[in-house]
Amino acid sequence: MNNVYEVAQAQFERAANALNLDSKLRLILSQPKNELIVNFPVLMDNGAFRLFKGYRIQHNNIMGPYKGGIRYHHEVHLDEVKALAAWMTWKCSLMEIPFGGAKGGIKFNPREHSAQELERITRRFTHALGSNIGPDHDIPAPDMGTNAQTMVWMMDTYMNGVPHDRKNAVRGIVTGKSVTSGGSLGRNKATGQGLAFAVQAWAREHNFNLAGGDFTVQGFGNVGYHAAQILTNGGSTLKAVMDHTGAVRNLNGIDPEALLAHCAETGGVAGYARAEAISREAFFATRADIFVPAALEMQITAETAPLMNFRLVAEGANGPTDLDGERILLEKGTEFLPDILANAGGVTVSYFEWLQNRRAESWTEERVDERLLSKMNAAYEHMRAIAREHKVDNRTAAYMHSVKRVQTVYRERGIFP
Ligand code: GLU
Repeated sequence: MNNVYEVAQAQFERAANALNLDSKLRLILSQPKNELIVNFPVLMDNGAFRLFKGYRIQHNNIMGPYKGGIRYHHEVHLDEVKALAAWMTWKCSLMEIPFGGAKGGIKFNPREHSAQELERITRRFTHALGSNIGPDHDIPAPDMGTNAQTMVWMMDTYMNGVPHDRKNAVRGIVTGKSVTSGGSLGRNKATGQGLAFAVQAWAREHNFNLAGGDFTVQGFGNVGYHAAQILTNGGSTLKAVMDHTGAVRNLNGIDPEALLAHCAETGGVAGYARAEAISREAFFATRADIFVPAALEMQITAETAPLMNFRLVAEGANGPTDLDGERILLEKGTEFLPDILANAGGVTVSYFEWLQNRRAESWTEERVDERLLSKMNAAYEHMRAIAREHKVDNRTAAYMHSVKRVQTVYRERGIFP
């Protein structure tokens, strides 16, 4: 099964069945609350106008304001953004942070545009979203193809639409801002850091010596790079990396810093001199203790899973595994740290950033990392306790913890009117 929204639905259904979730909640949670699609014109550098299609899907806000990233990618489509929005709801609930779930995106390739065009696209999109976003209503953040600069443009655009005496009060309209414009220390690396904390929790439970272990990474953006850098610092060996330009392998280890420098120069991992170029199949077939998918969704499938040989898949990407891919790897005895846990460091530190903005505070990086560590460990323990008690896999267990919390709140509040 390759339709990303159907996969998200099936993952939810599995937990819903295990929890005996009542039918009205299944009904409510089966679709997002709001689906906003905007088509907006932007002036290009050559004087022509181009029309862009932007999305903001608000899945659920019973636990708090809608929260989730904005993706710039040429394959962005409605079902994808719907799935990503639902995953945010489950991720925030699993992490026990007071947010609901949302996701947004614009269907275009940001690599084909100048910084000036990117700024105009971002500002026009923010304007088009208008009051559908807000620091206590729906809070965007970076995702694939966007970064701290994108968030600062969004913040500035939003601030320009509120009265002077409200400007500082709306600084938390987006998270993942640059530190100088009100972001949090530790946010940029947070997803990779959270992933490393989750992997460490897994290693502790299994008496696995990470310092003697090895791993491969798919995607070398913000998540893939930081995860690789932190795991390598801990003594693990990075054996292979694949991104949209190609795949490279060096069984003696790849230095993430050197690879990053190469990517900054050339735009991708292809052509990296201190490793051999390999095929996509050879990349997936490279044996390692841990595989970190940190690129697009639906990469571990009936086609690729049979090639794989890993003890653990730590999902840095959202939805990298389809149902067949998961079944095949589970049968082989591979364990998963599911996306809603493994990549939750980003939104968790987004929450810390939002708190700091509200209180006009700025925390040290040590404080941010410490709080992130305790959040990741708590979520890991919640997941593992359910997995042991109900004899289910980690993903189902993580969903069960998450869906149960949402169910409790629906029970308490009832359904309006
Ligand atoms: N885009 C990230 C994610 O998928 C971060 C979201 C956020 O910080 O709101 O979790």
